[in-house]
Amino acid sequence: MTQEEQIPQVLREVFEEAAAVKDGELAAYIPQLASVDPEYFALSACDTAGNSYAVGDCGQSFTLQSVSKVLAHACVLSHCDEEALGRRVGVEATGEDFDSIVKLDQHRRAFNPMVNTGAIVIADMLLSIYGEDALPKCLSFFASTMGVDNLDVDQAVFQSELATGERNRAIAHLLNNFKLLDYRVEKVLELYFNHCSLRATTDQLACLGATLANGGRLPEGGGCVLDPVVVRKVLSVMFSCGMYNDAGRWIYDVGLPAKSGVSGCLLVVVPGRMGIAAYSPRIDRRGTSVRGMLAVRLLSERLNLHLFA
Ligand code: GLU
Repeated sequence: MTQEEQIPQVLREVFEEAAAVKDGELAAYIPQLASVDPEYFALSACDTAGNSYAVGDCGQSFTLQSVSKVLAHACVLSHCDEEALGRRVGVEATGEDFDSIVKLDQHRRAFNPMVNTGAIVIADMLLSIYGEDALPKCLSFFASTMGVDNLDVDQAVFQSELATGERNRAIAHLLNNFKLLDYRVEKVLELYFNHCSLRATTDQLACLGATLANGGRLPEGGGCVLDPVVVRKVLSVMFSCGMYNDAGRWIYDVGLPAKSGVSGCLLVVVPGRMGIAAYSPRIDRRGTSVRGMLAVRLLSERLNLHLFA
């Protein structure tokens, strides 16, 4: 059996094994996220040829949360020069929690686009790029990378983040203090919370993963939606910084560019081959889905996907 032919069976096996794990907690700091069914579990894969495989609650959508940072980063890289971005946001892993202010306060610059400090600067840059239409334009850019016409914002989650996001508000004020924002704090946060509240399914995320695996071309011979150079940069940052402060361990064990979100979703890219997406809302202390992480680790081991294997 070729490795491609093994995918459906291995996907089912790792799904069953991970489904037995009940560890982790719902992300209670965004009240609306604490109200989802903790048992949801979905695993999807899509290869660059467009073959897709799915197990579990694949029709269940969830909010992208930090996974949307990948798309916001890609969008800014597609529209502005590298220097403008590099002055405000670096590409170094922080080793701190995703919502930490420590490194920002020490270095007066956001460390990378995958943590909140960097993503909030990027939201500010999206406002500069798109002006008043920033939200609809971002949505249509984001949707194009998943091969869909549009994506919806979950209004309840958006309102929940807006009402309780004092830590993000503090980050935005500190960024403002260091002259790293051009727009008003509330305006920047509104765009940031909106893109975190976008809903998608694991099938759609796996399609995004396949597009990134395919140098910016939608799978199944679809059109080119991202420049290959942008994809290379996005994948590099996902590789070193995408898994919160577990990034080193993740590279060591799994060896694939990935991004997790506190809703329990996980986007993984096997360059040149496929995208993988998982969703299970119980997360660990760092913010990553416990079942999602386990399922992808097992998949990487059994299909020999580690980039350095
Ligand atoms: N909207 C969330 C926040 O900023 C995203 C966090 C995450 O998924 O890491 O707190």
